[in-house]
Amino acid sequence: MVRDTKFYELLEVDPGADEATLKKAYRKQALRFHPDKNPEDPNKFKDISHAYEILSDPQKREAYDRFGEEGLQGGGGLHNPMNPEDLFAQFFGGGGGFGGRQRPQGPRKGKDMSHSLKVTLEDLYKGKVSKLALQKQVLCSKCDGKGGKDGAAPKKCTGCQGRGIKIVTRQIGPMIQQMQQQCPDCRGEGEIIKDKDRCKGCSGKKVVTERKILEVFIDKGMFHGQKITFTGEGDQAPDIIPGDIIIQVEQKEHARFERKGDDLYHKVEIDLLTSLAGGKFTIEHLDGRILLVNILPGEVIKPGDVKSINGEGMPRPFDKGNLYVTFSIKFPEPNWVPASLLPTLEQVLPPRKPLDNVTGNTEVEECILSTVDPIEQQRNARGGNRGQAHDEDDDEDGGQPGVQCAQQ
Ligand SMILES: [Zn+2]
Ligand SMILES: [Zn+2]
Repeated sequence: MVRDTKFYELLEVDPGADEATLKKAYRKQALRFHPDKNPEDPNKFKDISHAYEILSDPQKREAYDRFGEEGLQGGGGLHNPMNPEDLFAQFFGGGGGFGGRQRPQGPRKGKDMSHSLKVTLEDLYKGKVSKLALQKQVLCSKCDGKGGKDGAAPKKCTGCQGRGIKIVTRQIGPMIQQMQQQCPDCRGEGEIIKDKDRCKGCSGKKVVTERKILEVFIDKGMFHGQKITFTGEGDQAPDIIPGDIIIQVEQKEHARFERKGDDLYHKVEIDLLTSLAGGKFTIEHLDGRILLVNILPGEVIKPGDVKSINGEGMPRPFDKGNLYVTFSIKFPEPNWVPASLLPTLEQVLPPRKPLDNVTGNTEVEECILSTVDPIEQQRNARGGNRGQAHDEDDDEDGGQPGVQCAQQ
């Protein structure tokens, strides 16, 4: 009779389970709940490791069965509980973790494969399911990844004498270089299956290339650079845990919107009348809706002003970011206001700024503005850069651009 079944439940075994069953159960659960695979609940992995550490020790298991977890306190000897990652490493070889943290001696997990998926801002706003076709290696189904008929004994590869690597000598110009290379005959395995025993499905390679369609769910509001992991969907090979396929979201540039975090930025040009007297403008949103935006009379929007339309940014789990609008103002063309109406403007608009520095005694020169011909201006600027060496005659017709002054 067992007092407490928690540890057995963690490993999903019967309290009567023998050592081999416990071992197998730990293996399964540790893989399933390893923090790399299951980052939401890292404690589960620790609990599983702890449960196995106790149950795999006959003395501790007996104490636990009789007295529950209290039986393990004090004399029970849990002063140095094992690091779950170390226990995991003992089981699976190599470093503690999956993926990139492997040490070279234990290639237990296959390489992760990364792909980037370009998505429009519209897709990230509305959400989308993207289909991604890719090639991957899968274990040959005809031979179950053995490469040959059942019972066909592989023989030592003659190409590399079973070492899996070959030293190749290459001459590059006057230099002779020796390099280690994976043996191409056995693909690094050191053994080969005889021609006649070889599986027809995979020609003895144990794996075949398969086209795989992945359905990638682009959730609303996903970010540029966000990763979507397809656990264990990487290349298969005998005796390894397949790596993951990792899809990285790549947000395409958008013509009208810029995204910063959950907020969107949009530029709008309004006319001078709207900026002063109010009016409406529209924004076509990422989901096709037209936002009709009101500028209140008298609000006075200045060039470069930024205003917010709250809740019209990118979707978040429970709400949305903001849409920021940066304004530019389209001014009327020259002479658009009839001279007769100018006095009305004088009445309506704020008065002119006084010319503080024009006093009785200062020397003052009065000027008028000329229109600038940009091509002429550039030509003169280039001429100026060439400095002294430049023939001065060239500049005579150009003259000073911009401002002409009359001597008073
Ligand atoms: Zn095969
Ligand atoms: Zn070989």
